[in-house]
Amino acid sequence: MIETQGPQGQEMNIDISQTSEMKCDKCENNTFKQTMMLRKMSAIISPNGQETIIPVGVFACESCGHVNEEFAQGGFE
Ligand SMILES: [Zn+2]
Repeated sequence: MIETQGPQGQEMNIDISQTSEMKCDKCENNTFKQTMMLRKMSAIISPNGQETIIPVGVFACESCGHVNEEFAQGGFE
């Protein structure tokens, strides 16, 4: 068992054997680095009526730099 912090900062006990390893979709490397994707919100749907750029934190493969689909969704679709 390892202890980690949940999204709201509460402690969660996770059995690592119940988790699955994630790999790069392209090269199957299993280490990732945190990086940013930028999303552009057009003026039409932006709450302040201006074109807005939104940074979204994602994980990119440390080997080839590919961002897996499931990391890239970001909740803006
Ligand atoms: Zn890769």
